[in-house]
Amino acid sequence: ADQKETLGFQTEVKQLLHLMIHSLYSNREIFLRELISNAADACDKLRYRALDDDSLFEGDSELRVEIEFDAEARTVTVRDNGIGMSRDDVIANLGTIARSGTAEFLKQLSGEQQKDAKLIGQFGVGFYSSFIVADEVTVRTRLAGSERSAGTQWVSRGEGEFTIEPIELERHGTEIRLALKSDAAEFADEYRLRALVRKYSDHIDLPVQMQKVEEQEGEDGEKSSVVSWETVNEAQALWTRPKGELSDDDYKAFYKHIAHDFTDPLSWSHNKVEGKLEYTSLLYVPARAPFDLYQREGVRGLKLYVQRVFIMDDAEQFLPLYLRFVKGVIDTRDLSLNVSREILQQDPQVEKLKSALTKRVLDMLKKLAKEPERYQEFWNQFGSVLKEGPAEDYANREKIAELLRFSTTHTDSAVQDQSLADYVGRMKEGQQKIYYLVADSFNAARHSPHLEIFRKKGIEVLLLSDRVDEWLMSHLSEFDGKALVDVAKGDLDLGDVEDEEEKKAQEESAKAKQALVDRLKEQLGERVAQVRVTHRLTDSPACVVLDEHDMGFQMRRLMEAAGQ
Ligand code: ADP
Ligand code: MG
Repeated sequence: ADQKETLGFQTEVKQLLHLMIHSLYSNREIFLRELISNAADACDKLRYRALDDDSLFEGDSELRVEIEFDAEARTVTVRDNGIGMSRDDVIANLGTIARSGTAEFLKQLSGEQQKDAKLIGQFGVGFYSSFIVADEVTVRTRLAGSERSAGTQWVSRGEGEFTIEPIELERHGTEIRLALKSDAAEFADEYRLRALVRKYSDHIDLPVQMQKVEEQEGEDGEKSSVVSWETVNEAQALWTRPKGELSDDDYKAFYKHIAHDFTDPLSWSHNKVEGKLEYTSLLYVPARAPFDLYQREGVRGLKLYVQRVFIMDDAEQFLPLYLRFVKGVIDTRDLSLNVSREILQQDPQVEKLKSALTKRVLDMLKKLAKEPERYQEFWNQFGSVLKEGPAEDYANREKIAELLRFSTTHTDSAVQDQSLADYVGRMKEGQQKIYYLVADSFNAARHSPHLEIFRKKGIEVLLLSDRVDEWLMSHLSEFDGKALVDVAKGDLDLGDVEDEEEKKAQEESAKAKQALVDRLKEQLGERVAQVRVTHRLTDSPACVVLDEHDMGFQMRRLMEAAGQ
């Protein structure tokens, strides 16, 4: 294939391009962030591969991004000397959306511009944002270490197809030239571009350079202009800088770079640790759950650096699954530069780092919980993931339990905003246990006949209806020394809340109803284990109760669904 070919975009790409061009209009400047971010990723990749083979640098190991513009021709060019792409890479990366999330993304589209705009960054569709400002995009690229003649040129107007042809390229790496739309001419401007670079790319560990033109007077009095490259951004990896130097805006911009998210994070924690373990971590709690939070193959994990060298994205070994929503960076001296995913699974240092980072995140959440409104935002997005915690992380279950939030009969609201400590603080005199009820929905829980006696006595009950709740409760048997008890299981012991007289009256009425009980037993036969008179109910005539050790209804259904 050594001539020009025209290929079509994947259907999803077409839809996406259409959407992007129409919905991101008010957010156009982000194209530059996306292109610089890709260039930085490409340089990270080359630096990493060159650890094994430094001929890949082709004698040019000063990795950098260059930005040029031409106001008259209305073009902006972003160039890097990173890893570059082969012809096949180009077709795969710039013609299709490889990420499994695309279909989901398109499903979630609402047509509300603001929301869609925020979704886009999350789906790793950064490159296509070029078409918000450009009516034609030209990509010229060559894979580092390949022949000069192995370059590729890709051109598209974003209207359904692109052309691709082989070209000769002196430099490896990628150059992207945007021919700006007439209403986007403002971007072919020195000050605008410099301001955007500072705004979006200060924190990346790579110089972003622009040309500086200076008038010079030669010895002969002739004026000439001298062009030199000048680094515009700070160009120091953010997490290596002292906290005191960094503003909230710096942290937020960095989050957007690593998380591919447009929304500000809810919270972050930046720590430099020296001693037995040596690492710097910068961990973020996002404000919004990603679409793949519950998918087995969902993207999770931290960006791993070893001694400032980028090693891999999505290193999942450093946090437990129930904290999979956390984004961030870990940079350590305790691992070797040629660490691989396989090695990560066995290295004992990784286990130590994992437990240290887990503690950091739990502490960060505890701090966040002091701001109830913001914590609620967190809980609404990630609460049901955190509920997996006590089962996965026995050692930290106390800490996790403090972070849990529930609906209860106290508020009678579907909003899960009550902590176990809140509940304990409201316990009745003589009450020794924490009562809960599991049902399929909040409404089913709220109207359950099991609650009648509790409502009558004014005893609070946690109302659980998330899929994970029964799983959670089977691993959380107590809090603050108080047992957690399912009100639908076994004998109901209300402890000292019941008075003696009441008990006697109940026993008597049970005796009086013996004949009825016998008749019911006869009728129901094998279908029930027992029939008994209860004081659980005040209004309903009867209810089904599980044995104390029986599996709950929710778990049964889960097991049935799994074919057990
Ligand atoms: P993402 O960066 O989230 O993967 P993008 O749409 O921004 O998504 O880029 C798509 C892919 O195109 C990248 O994953 C990368 O493989 C490739 N790519 C984009 N820009 C460059 C570049 N400057 N150098 C090398 N590869 C690039
Ligand atoms: Mg990108």
